[in-house]
Amino acid sequence: MPELPEVEVVRRALQNDLLDRRIVRADVREARLRWPVAPELADRLRGARPRAIERRGKYLLLRFDGGTLIIHLGMSGSLRFLPQAGPPARHDHVDLVFEHGVLRYHDPRRFGAMLWQPDEQGGPERHPLLAGLGIEPFSAGFGGEHLHRATRGRRVSIKQLLLAGTAVVGVGNIYASESLFRAGIAPSTRAGRLSRARCEALAGAILATLSDAIERGGSSLRDFVGADGSSGYFQLDCFVYGRAGKPCRVCGDTVRVRRDQQRATYWCRSCQR
Ligand SMILES: [Zn+2]
Repeated sequence: MPELPEVEVVRRALQNDLLDRRIVRADVREARLRWPVAPELADRLRGARPRAIERRGKYLLLRFDGGTLIIHLGMSGSLRFLPQAGPPARHDHVDLVFEHGVLRYHDPRRFGAMLWQPDEQGGPERHPLLAGLGIEPFSAGFGGEHLHRATRGRRVSIKQLLLAGTAVVGVGNIYASESLFRAGIAPSTRAGRLSRARCEALAGAILATLSDAIERGGSSLRDFVGADGSSGYFQLDCFVYGRAGKPCRVCGDTVRVRRDQQRATYWCRSCQR
């Protein structure tokens, strides 16, 4: 599933390729995504130019004069810009045909979304899917103080709180495990019991982990949005995630795993308290 770093890398690529370029037409071959693609979308986009390409959580926001196209890649979606597009293949559901190439949306499982939010209904931040999202990790308001405030009185584990996305967006399972390792915090620690200093450490670890992933994605940008359409996790050099039974890279103790609700939690008992 594409996570925040993957989506951010896609955003940067689209910004390079598409900003202010004109859409000739939109071809919607399959409208049945997680929510149906609106029948009038093609009319809205004809002749339009993306004026800004932003990201909120895992949502891509293509801002046009008069409205915003909100795109989510779901479980298996990918966006590729093809300067010379061949005929669409299976699961290539939507093409935005520009004068200089085609932006192609591919999604075998169709859990993604492509939604139009007109400006008169407020900006995309007013859309129900985006309105309840937590703070952006790379925004000025995020840091130890914010995490400390957001965790007060919370009895859930810090890992569960991070995954919920209400305290901060974009820290999915892999990034939560890695951030907690870097901060030396056991994943099962009750969120409300974290000291201010540990919240500072965790905020720093979240930023470092996400930045590393974006940087790695950035260096393999061509491959990522390239012809194979792959959209897996970037090859992060994980400390604990996916390393159950192997020696901890810092202390040599065995990395543990616990599975609950189909999610695996990896941690080192010696490094994380
Ligand atoms: Zn260790």
